[in-house]
Amino acid sequence: MKSISDVILSRLTDLIPGELEQTEFRWLTLPHQHPVLLTRRRATMIVNRVRLLAFLFAVLTPLWSSVDLIVFPFPLWLSLALLRLVACGTFASLLLYRPNGSLFDAYRAMALLFAIPTVFYVASYVLLGRYQLTGISAAISAGYAFLPFVLLSGLSIFPLTLLETLMFAGPILIAHAIAGSLRWTTVDWPSFAGSFWLQVLITGVSALADMSQLAFMIVLVRQAVRDPLTGAFSRSSGEEVLALQFSLASRSSARLSVAFIDLDHFKNINDRYGHEAGDKVLVNMTCIVRHNLRHGDVLARWGGEEFLVIMPNTELVQAEAALARLSNIGFGLNPDHTPVTASVGIAELMADQASDWKFLVDMADRRMYRAKQRGRDQVCSRDEQGATDCCTDLRGMADIPNEAEIEQC
Ligand code: GH3
Ligand code: MG
Ligand code: MG
Repeated sequence: MKSISDVILSRLTDLIPGELEQTEFRWLTLPHQHPVLLTRRRATMIVNRVRLLAFLFAVLTPLWSSVDLIVFPFPLWLSLALLRLVACGTFASLLLYRPNGSLFDAYRAMALLFAIPTVFYVASYVLLGRYQLTGISAAISAGYAFLPFVLLSGLSIFPLTLLETLMFAGPILIAHAIAGSLRWTTVDWPSFAGSFWLQVLITGVSALADMSQLAFMIVLVRQAVRDPLTGAFSRSSGEEVLALQFSLASRSSARLSVAFIDLDHFKNINDRYGHEAGDKVLVNMTCIVRHNLRHGDVLARWGGEEFLVIMPNTELVQAEAALARLSNIGFGLNPDHTPVTASVGIAELMADQASDWKFLVDMADRRMYRAKQRGRDQVCSRDEQGATDCCTDLRGMADIPNEAEIEQC
């Protein structure tokens, strides 16, 4: 039975037909389940936007000092000019940030970008409150109160989840409330409450703009990283994921296994039943393997009928067990209803003392060939001493494939 959240999600998904899948819809609210490649591209985009805004603010902030000089008394101008100088220097320092794909670094850059004008706003609000300004000076001084509006609308240029937008908008709204309470004896409360409400509305619009950008990005990243026929990761995305996982695992001495899968006698299917039947076998195989992998494992199409499974935090024995289980489930059915089989080679970062991810793939590829030589439909890995490859012959061991399950794929 469907839960209420599933029903709501499917209704929302129907609102924008042909864009997001149901799982992807969840990614609009929270960032923690985003795929690693989406996170990396998003982090890069956020830092680039931060640099753009920081450049704009670094130029405009000191420029306005000339207007202040004309309309404000000298001591007030000096204080504001010093504030502007500090703000300008901090904005300029943000230009040193370079995107590196880390979401944490992107958050830090954004937090700094928004913290500077927020502090500037509270400080200038307090400073201006000490003077009885009239005429044009009062009008220019009132302009300072618009800074939170600028910041909240500035939020709309980032591809953020709902939670992230609220996280960054929250301190700006709080700063506005603090500024009001610092001048609470003189402030015009009805107009203060009105402007607060307007800011909440702008936050809502910015959140929608951010989620729209994120949705657009999710679709683009999905199309860019997936192989169009099977829906598995494309080879280039697989290489990117593997390079990333390899450096993470090497740094933290974690395990990382890869399995090279090559379908057996696949050419015969094309020759006997045509290319389209071959395509169908590839699509089914991908679907079955993806459904039987752990969350966090990645399946990439490495070549025509060759696939790579990337298994982070997985020891050699665990990877062997996972692949033996997969081979038992089977890789689908040929058009003549015989089971599709595959030859598999496995390698692991530590056990094979891999110096880089390419070495790991070469090792798994070499063992896959060993499985072919030994008669196909087997899983070859490294034996405990590492002297020879150790293979598990699976011929005739596969369960009778469940046609209903395959049909679902
Ligand atoms: P082996 O057991 O030694 O691996 O034999 P094989 O026939 O699987 O291997 P071989 O490398 O000789 O043939 C692979 C075939 O895969 C040849 C190619 O036409 C076919 N192929 C590659 N990409 C696709 C594709 O996208 N769709 C289809 N239908 N066939 C493809
Ligand atoms: Mg091949
Ligand atoms: Mg093959």
